[in-house]
Amino acid sequence: MHTLEQLPNFIGGTWLRSKNAEYLDVTNPATGEIIAEVPLSPAVDVDAAVSAGSKAFESWRRVPVTERAHYLFTFREKLEAHFEDIARTATRECGKTIAESRGELRRGIENVEVACGIPSLMQGYNNEDIASGIDEHMIRQPLGVVVAITPFNFPGMIPLWFLPYAIATGNCFILKPSEKVPQTSQWLVRLLEESGLPRGVVQLVHGGKPTVDALLEHPLVKAISFVGSTRVARHVYAQAAANGKRAQCQGGAKNAAIILDDAAMDMTSNIVADSAFGCAGQRCLANSLAITVGGAREPFTEAMADAARKRRVRYGLEEESEMGPVITPESKSRIERLISEAENEGARILIDGRGRSVDGFENGNWVFPTLLDGVPAEGMLARTEIFGPVFGLIHADSLQEAIDLVNSQSYGNMACLFTSSGAAARQFRYEAEAGNIGINLGVAAPMAFFPFSGWKDSFFGSLHAQGRHGVEFYTQTKVVVERWPSYWSRRF
Ligand code: NAD
Repeated sequence: MHTLEQLPNFIGGTWLRSKNAEYLDVTNPATGEIIAEVPLSPAVDVDAAVSAGSKAFESWRRVPVTERAHYLFTFREKLEAHFEDIARTATRECGKTIAESRGELRRGIENVEVACGIPSLMQGYNNEDIASGIDEHMIRQPLGVVVAITPFNFPGMIPLWFLPYAIATGNCFILKPSEKVPQTSQWLVRLLEESGLPRGVVQLVHGGKPTVDALLEHPLVKAISFVGSTRVARHVYAQAAANGKRAQCQGGAKNAAIILDDAAMDMTSNIVADSAFGCAGQRCLANSLAITVGGAREPFTEAMADAARKRRVRYGLEEESEMGPVITPESKSRIERLISEAENEGARILIDGRGRSVDGFENGNWVFPTLLDGVPAEGMLARTEIFGPVFGLIHADSLQEAIDLVNSQSYGNMACLFTSSGAAARQFRYEAEAGNIGINLGVAAPMAFFPFSGWKDSFFGSLHAQGRHGVEFYTQTKVVVERWPSYWSRRF
């Protein structure tokens, strides 16, 4: 009989079975097959990981910055060498297509590459003679043990929004990945181990809420990076603040695209359909709502219906697959219930993705692309993050009315505009209340050297993930004001 792998934690440079943990099944969302068991690590494991990190910090912060960067160069090479293995693991546990897994891993590696520039990125600044014979310097120092808690939908990329910057700046790092997708993180940490990283610099601790709460309460954890739903982001942000920790917490989203009648309609509907149905809509930058203005209504609706009908929904490991399943049976039921509720509040179902299945994969969590027209602007569907392949259409008479609708959302992760008018684009860019703006783009994902800038209920904190923001988040500034009297009196 084949026994399932019980995944170990990685603490102090050793792969360890969790102490007294319960185990949870990890399931392939397309096949329903159980592929591993993940520990729900208790506080004692968290304590061991924090202690290992604290111990390693004393020497790691003294490793020259160029040497710390060298470990990242090696790590990058190993990620490239195992690129396909990692992407296949992500697809198996998360359900997205293999092309989507390759795409997210590429974006993750870009963060490793940016963090390789840490000798320049981490520099401070100074002035000579801020007063006669007195100089002032600002230097950046690491914080200590820092933690990232990550969601299920980008198992390869999101840990890499944080890890490379955290360790490059001299911190020790604990990753607590989503318990739904633990095996991709297993790969990342194994490759860091193979890169020769000193023991204790990176820890992997699997688990759920009790594990997160133990991390939030641990006095030696100095900073928390979180990505997940807004409900949990709020909790993590509040607890981190109450316990005196730095926090950057990215939450959920409801991203609208405004379509003007001067947009290039074929290109627009292709881009918006990819944004809405890519990753089965389980993307914090998914367009889940369109606001068509004036004459854009008819051609855009027809083109979207066509795109929704044609999307090839298959097992993600099949190369021709354009959309995989949603993450769990509970997620599928929730999405189907929300479609019914949308119908009850007056939306008209143009394409119904409920009750469908993929031949040979009948145990998968399938929801096919769904298109709803006449969505009430104040209703549930227009305001709720569905996190599935469900796309709603609202119609407005003017660009201003559409922008006002975008700004009435509680979320502010991304907003997009499709147009050929520079003036309209300028107005939108200026007025839209969202941290990531797409002009004729459906997934305005910032590159690794820009901050991932959510606003409103999509982000709690001030410094975002990636690039220079990451470096600032993981360092504290120290200002040195100095005078050397003997030199001064000798010279003058
Ligand atoms: P989630 O909030 O359920 O879980 C995220 C992490 O928090 C996981 O590691 C999980 O173990 C932990 N967690 C879950 N419940 C907890 C609790 N009660 N207390 C403490 N920790 C808890 O999110 P998810 O379902 O894994 O991911 C989907 C969500 O993430 C969506 O809302 C999506 O929009 C959001 N997301 C946001 C971004 C962004 O950049 N803003 C990016 C990706 C995903």
